[in-house]
Amino acid sequence: MNDLKTPVSRLGQFGAVLSKRLKKLGIETVEDLIFYFPFRHEDFSNLVPISGVASDSSATIKGKIDLIANRRSWKRRTILTEALISDDTGSIKAIWFNQSFLTRVLRPGDRVFLSGKIEYDRHSLQFINPIYEIARGDELVGVHTARIVPIYPLTSSITQKQIRMLVKIALNSVKLIKDWLPKETKNKWRLMDLATALFQIHFPDDKKKLDSARHRLKFDELFLFQLQARRLRQELDASPAVKIPFKQEKIKKFVDSLPFKLTNAQRVAAWEIIKDLERGRPMNRLVEGDVGSGKTVVATIAALHTVLDGHSVVFLAPTEILARQHFGTISRILKGWPISVGLLTRSESKIMDGLGSRNFTKAEMLKKISEGDIQIMVGTHALLQEKVKFCDLALLIVDEQHRFGVEQRKNLKEKNKNNGFVLHLLSMTATPIPRTLALAFYGDLNLSIIDEMPEGRKKIITKIIKPSDKSATYQFVRQEVGSGRQAFVICPLIDPSDKIEVQSVQEEYQKLSQEIFPEFKIGFLHGKLKPDDKEKIMKDFLDNKINILVSTSVIEVGIDVPNAAIMMIEGAERFGLAQLHQFRGRVGRSEYQSYCFLFTENNNEKTKARLEALVNSNNSFELAEKDLELRGPGEVYGLKQSGLPSLKIATLSDRAIIKEAKNAVDDIIKLSRQLKEYPDLQAKLETVDSIHLE
Ligand code: ADP
Ligand code: MG
Repeated sequence: MNDLKTPVSRLGQFGAVLSKRLKKLGIETVEDLIFYFPFRHEDFSNLVPISGVASDSSATIKGKIDLIANRRSWKRRTILTEALISDDTGSIKAIWFNQSFLTRVLRPGDRVFLSGKIEYDRHSLQFINPIYEIARGDELVGVHTARIVPIYPLTSSITQKQIRMLVKIALNSVKLIKDWLPKETKNKWRLMDLATALFQIHFPDDKKKLDSARHRLKFDELFLFQLQARRLRQELDASPAVKIPFKQEKIKKFVDSLPFKLTNAQRVAAWEIIKDLERGRPMNRLVEGDVGSGKTVVATIAALHTVLDGHSVVFLAPTEILARQHFGTISRILKGWPISVGLLTRSESKIMDGLGSRNFTKAEMLKKISEGDIQIMVGTHALLQEKVKFCDLALLIVDEQHRFGVEQRKNLKEKNKNNGFVLHLLSMTATPIPRTLALAFYGDLNLSIIDEMPEGRKKIITKIIKPSDKSATYQFVRQEVGSGRQAFVICPLIDPSDKIEVQSVQEEYQKLSQEIFPEFKIGFLHGKLKPDDKEKIMKDFLDNKINILVSTSVIEVGIDVPNAAIMMIEGAERFGLAQLHQFRGRVGRSEYQSYCFLFTENNNEKTKARLEALVNSNNSFELAEKDLELRGPGEVYGLKQSGLPSLKIATLSDRAIIKEAKNAVDDIIKLSRQLKEYPDLQAKLETVDSIHLE
């Protein structure tokens, strides 16, 4: 028996030949093979006698090869391999196209399994291109046939047969894998034991065992992820952080100075943050709120609160435009407070304080940061790449990149002089992570949900536009843009790695600028433009030098352009609801009535019903739940980037198992906070640590 770390190159007859290609799939050892799960199975388990084979169906037979030979077919310019196979009940012909090597592999007298499709040919039944496998002795199931057969995700340089053979060999060692899940948990949730599950996931005896195996392995994944999050939380709860007392009067003064009244949801979120910061334990909070729900003000309250106690704050944004926008907003609403706000990106470094706004060189900025002269530092990743030292940094605010934030909290700890305190982390996201998922997967996190929009916003009018109504819609857009508004056009969703994406934007741009709106200034944006060009176009749009902006879906349009009142989306049916809703959120940011036009050429009922949901709902959580239901978690916009786990076998729709695993985690933690009673589990957790904790 091989041990689990035996390299694949030592396995079977092709291990050595394939080891390089296997490495590309992440498979280097016996253990890796065992954990390389098939993504589906084909059921060839129904072994029938040859006399029982029927036409136009699939079947698996076991028989002896009587004859096998190649023949050239002139008509079709192909080589045919024909064989006659018989068992006790009868005989049947098999035929393969262009596989002349078969006469060297399969010899008369060999016992074989054949699985595949049966057709009627003039006067007899025959197998067309069946899968074959030489049967040894009396065995009734094969590896590739006569059973439920695993199908693996593979690249073209390895065949299913090859990997199956290797997995089969690897599985001889499956008993060496320790079942780390506590017995009580296994019993309570009726889980298959691990070695059995690992065997059955590859070569199931039957459908039921396959289901149980899959269930166990999904459970493992979901259990470990949630346990991990809970452990992280325990760890944070035991770490020291700066304790920031609430300065009620000053915060009240700030809130009163705002040109608007906070929404109730904003108030609650701000309050929850202030409470976290008072605890002397690191805050770990995610603020979720729709685009335009006013997260920046909430973050600014957190920053002000921290600065008032004498500490500094870093505020990270995903793009330069957004960093500049946040810098503008924050320095504007903190005007009159003795606080200096800095901006550092690849192309800008400046400070805004009581003396106004001034530019500095990067070196000057870094010096100021390290001396604690800048209390709120806004920036992009550039800010962190520099060899910058911080001074008494207490709070890290991260916009739209939660996982990144967790990572940076660790990095910043080393660059920061503040007595070994762990930073407070506040993340913000507009991704509507359904609450059910958030609670399960963000066990390490507290959640504030801003589910209320500021008052006085006009409801955006959303319409589904058929091709026959398109020109009337353009006519309407012409009036609106003529009266000063601006518009976005989103091009259909295409693989963004593809050149077609650029092409489609350019075609749309040509069409709009030459045929439809020659009187307006049209601009375009796509992912292949240089960062500086992108910035310039966005700036021109912001300054209303561009009337209509054509863009791909992937481009960062996260900026606030209050004058934009029209969103047109081509090929709307191709997007998920949550993403359409995000696009729509780019308009409706001012007193102007705004519109969202969903262009679609697809008039099937299902598509219509889906788009109708968008017309009828303005709630991103509702829409995300609907996406989850209709299209599955892969399609919920933003979920992939949101730091939810990348799962190998479970999916985010496995809600029942998610819940079971959560309950199991609760039980374990209750019994043994440090997991001391569960050394196997503890050891397992250590091996996955590096994978999940970024
Ligand atoms: P997001 O949640 O998308 O980050 P922002 O913080 O950028 O939203 O806020 C969007 C706009 O709404 C900003 O112009 C902001 O000044 C404004 N705003 C925020 N809160 C309120 C409020 N309570 N009432 C009115 N306007 C608000
Ligand atoms: Mg924002």
